[in-house]
This record gives sequence, C-alpha cells and structure tokens, in this order.
Amino acid sequence: MEHERLAGPRMLTFTMLWTLAVSVALFLGFCGPKAFAASPYQACEQTPSTTALPRIVYIYPSTDAAPWKAAITEWNAHYPNSFAEGSFDDATVLVAWTPGRTWVDMPCHGHRATIYVGQDVSIAYWAAHELGHAGFALRDYIPIGYPKDGYINPGRCPGEYDGIMSYCTPRNRWWGADDDQMMRTLL
Ligand SMILES: [Zn+2]
Repeated sequence: MEHERLAGPRMLTFTMLWTLAVSVALFLGFCGPKAFAASPYQACEQTPSTTALPRIVYIYPSTDAAPWKAAITEWNAHYPNSFAEGSFDDATVLVAWTPGRTWVDMPCHGHRATIYVGQDVSIAYWAAHELGHAGFALRDYIPIGYPKDGYINPGRCPGEYDGIMSYCTPRNRWWGADDDQMMRTLL
C-alpha cells in the first residue's frame, strides 16, 4: 500500500518540521525585535546603537536648554560619564519642544530616543527622570492601581523600587541605594 509505505518517512518529516518551527519560535522569542530587556529596570531592550557611553544628547535650539544641561550635570555627578551634550548627528537622545504634553519616544524600536517637552509638567523637576527613559530605556514605576495606558512595561510602587524612576519617590530620595543597584545592571 503506497501511502502506508510512506507513512514512516512522512511522520519523521512532520516531526522535524515541527521541531524546526518550535526552535524558530523560541529563537524569535529570545532574539527577535520584541526581545526581553537586558536589565529588569528597563522597559525594553535597547538597540546596540544606543548603548555607548556617554549617551549623547542633542537639544533643539527651540527648546529651553537650561533644565537639560542641569539634568546632564546631575546624572554625571552620580554616575560619571553617563550623559554629554553633543551634535544632532552623534546624539542618541533628542530633546524637542512640543505644544502638547510631555512624553518620551523610548529607545525600544531600533532608533534613537526623543523627549518631547511640553508645558504640562515641571521640566526642572523631571528632566533627569526623562533622561533615564531616553538614555537607558528605564521603565516607570507607577502607583498601584494607576492605569498602565501609555507606559511600556511599567513597574509598580511603592515597594518594588525607590528612586528616580518611581512616581512614589520624592525628589529628595532620588539617587539612593535602589538607583545604585539599578545602574549597576547597566553601566
Ligand atoms: Zn517616566
């Protein structure tokens, strides 16, 4: 019987194809564009082009540069050589004015990050936090019960982490032990 004679080899081929499909799925799961973050403090895996130190920041002339220069100085005081201001061509972090609300296009999609600076929040307060998103793909820690819409893989607070990326942490507790632990996973 023709098909019975072929059943064995066909089963073998099917098994091999299935194994191959599972292997490819696993490979894409670990290495594909939606790969896991390198650090548990990151919202996503940064692209290789954004990982050199210092992270170069370009501030568009239409944007008030003062709070961003201060934030770069603040970062470097705690983690030397983490950020520097530079040219548009060298930059992996762009700081741009927007008439809308403040948000960060995170470095999760194979391109550089852009911080859109609106008028809705105190930039003097938040600039260093936004550099954490743009420069290191750090995720937010938002209060328990707070909607996750608009956040990429946010953590929760209080409890999980206490520092610059947490909405639960007042500014005078930024740059503490949890931030040191966070940055040890990245620098
Ligand atoms: Zn944030």
